[in-house]
Amino acid sequence: MAFDWIQKEWFSKNSKLVFFTGAGMSAESGIRTFRDNDGYWSQYDPMKLASPAGFENDPKLVLDWYQYRRNEIKKAKPNKGYDAIENIAKLFPQAQVITQNVDGFHKKADFIDVIELHGNIHKTHCNQCRKENLDGCELLHDDKPIFCDCGGLMRPSVVWFGESLRLSVMHQAESISRSADIFFSIGTSSLIYPAAQMPYEAKNNGAKIIEINPQSTPLTSMADASIQGLSGEILFKIYQELHANYN
Ligand SMILES: [Zn+2]
Repeated sequence: MAFDWIQKEWFSKNSKLVFFTGAGMSAESGIRTFRDNDGYWSQYDPMKLASPAGFENDPKLVLDWYQYRRNEIKKAKPNKGYDAIENIAKLFPQAQVITQNVDGFHKKADFIDVIELHGNIHKTHCNQCRKENLDGCELLHDDKPIFCDCGGLMRPSVVWFGESLRLSVMHQAESISRSADIFFSIGTSSLIYPAAQMPYEAKNNGAKIIEINPQSTPLTSMADASIQGLSGEILFKIYQELHANYN
């Protein structure tokens, strides 16, 4: 019973639930993480594949890598944790999602806002003038990089090492976090700033923090509830319990 870990009286129909998700959540769909022992960065050099200098040095290598990752994501499917969040959001009309994942697994829908803090791998923009989504968001055309009218190269719309998060997106995420009544931190190491700041923004403004992650993290000691395990299973149980009480 999920509510052995969290308090039912924290929730009311008007509660604002915020779901803050990270790579651990998509790992349950078979998407490799980055920083784990078997993650991408144990095998590849992020500075070559995911940095402005890497792209300048060898755009084709970088675009091939993102094409490979798009294909891996296409082969995978959002797991039942994603479905559970969608279903919980139908019970709590103010629910919002902030994700660090770029795989686009959180579907944007009328009933839920999704902030993609680190961008979306399925979108592109010009590296120079930032014009978005040319050529149907393809990364390559005839296996060659795609140029924008301005002469710049199209690139995946994800935040790279050494790049800042878009200020407007960052501010939106902070403001959503501050307005949370209940803040779920799911499948994230809580190590990577500024994203890792979000639970603290929520906590400092009175939210209850519920962490769901296989291991403890720097956030665990300040969370109001910390549930260790697979997010798909746990979110599904939480959904069932909430559905029974707030439908
Ligand atoms: Zn351009």
